[in-house]
Amino acid sequence: MQILKFGGSSVASAPNIERVCAIIEQAIQADKTMVVASALGGCTDKLVEIGHMAADRNPAYTSLLDELILRHEELVQQLGLPEQSELHGLMKELREVCRGVFLLQELSLRTLDLIMSFGELLSTTILSRFLHHKGITNCWIDARRTIRTNHRYGNAQVDMEATTRHIEHQINTCPSRLYIVPGFISSNDQGITTTLGRGGSDYTASLLAVCAKARMLEIWTDVSGMMTADPRVVPQARPIPHISYKEALELSHFGARVVYPPTIQPVVSHRIPIKIKNTFAPEEPGTLIEQNPPESDSRLRGLSASGHIALLSMEGSGMVGIPGYSARLFGALAAEEINIILITQASSVHTMCVAIDEKNAESAKKAVDDTFAYEISLQKVEPLRVETGFSIISLVGDDLQQQSGTGGRMFEALGRKNINIRAIAQGSSEKNISTVVGTADEAEALRAIHEAFF
Ligand code: ADP
Ligand code: ASP
Ligand code: MG
Repeated sequence: MQILKFGGSSVASAPNIERVCAIIEQAIQADKTMVVASALGGCTDKLVEIGHMAADRNPAYTSLLDELILRHEELVQQLGLPEQSELHGLMKELREVCRGVFLLQELSLRTLDLIMSFGELLSTTILSRFLHHKGITNCWIDARRTIRTNHRYGNAQVDMEATTRHIEHQINTCPSRLYIVPGFISSNDQGITTTLGRGGSDYTASLLAVCAKARMLEIWTDVSGMMTADPRVVPQARPIPHISYKEALELSHFGARVVYPPTIQPVVSHRIPIKIKNTFAPEEPGTLIEQNPPESDSRLRGLSASGHIALLSMEGSGMVGIPGYSARLFGALAAEEINIILITQASSVHTMCVAIDEKNAESAKKAVDDTFAYEISLQKVEPLRVETGFSIISLVGDDLQQQSGTGGRMFEALGRKNINIRAIAQGSSEKNISTVVGTADEAEALRAIHEAFF
């Protein structure tokens, strides 16, 4: 078995779906295949917008919904498919759900998951029908009956045991050379639709690779592999032919969205390699992510950036030499389920700086100031300082610690462009060096560091 995942741009239009079909047709010559597809490019964002408009009692939501439905109807026409009652059924249901949100003026995460799920339901139904139409038989698997999660709407956690059982059952009840599965969507033990987080179709594909014991996971997208930097920001970026799971994880974790970060973990223990390929240039080699990639000349692999970062700084004379402050700071953030992205501490130990997602800045401030209320009242520590509008730039590679001067060259490149560095951290894995800069400087910083190293 092999898993092929096609992203939103790969299924965004009739000519693109034709390309996808050609790739699938070739793939099934070689092996049994499970295809995971995203919603049409931009569709999930539109569904989210429609949901919010309806909840805000904005009647204009219906025009956006009409446009979205028309886009799918036109696609069906352009592909030369006959009338599809299943699709009409889905569209009608979507209209009803949105109408319900409009009337109730309420959009819970649970309802948002339901609304978003229509994107992948529609795209994969069209893909499956089109393949049948071209004489390629296939079996459509309902991910909602197969991928079992907990009740955490918007970002559900998967129950691998139940999911594996369901996949085996599906494969046994519907033997086929080709399966088509909607990405991103799943359901909980009450059968209520959940989703795996934005960008989650990659993760669906990775889960299925493990559950169906696939030998290979291929992620087909709109670039020729994982590249030394985001090609939309750094035009000189080049594809990375081979990369280890760990390095790919660091790159994606710090912003290379070509792979959704949770995707890598499930396949690692089963040593299933991931290939990143370009739907629009299938002849290009792409990137192979594996356990032990061959040695390359440079140990530096790539550069990535993630925005919407807030810096929390804790300062105070009362922190000097007293153990336990950092544990309390981290404990306060953990209790609020706030993920710490990066930490730096000056050796004087009297300031400590933590980077988190901007959206958690307010709750972080409250939690930390509450925790240290006593010390703050004695003026031993200052109330937490919160600054927003930052980006983290990470240089990723193997054994960075062994390579003297990497950090220096990175900072020199930024200095030449007069870019102010707010914080620096070296990943404990020794696989990355990260700097925090203002988001306004992010693109220029990426280009400057890329020029210095790649
Ligand atoms: P899909 O819809 O196929 O899932 P995404 O838009 O999620 O595709 O991811 C592909 C995009 O990721 C590329 O178009 C590119 O702009 C962006 N990207 C960011 N960093 C990198 C990188 N290091 N290598 C390749 N692509 C990257
Ligand atoms: N359609 C979903 C999203 O846009 C999942 C995905 O494309 O990976 O987030
Ligand atoms: Mg993606």
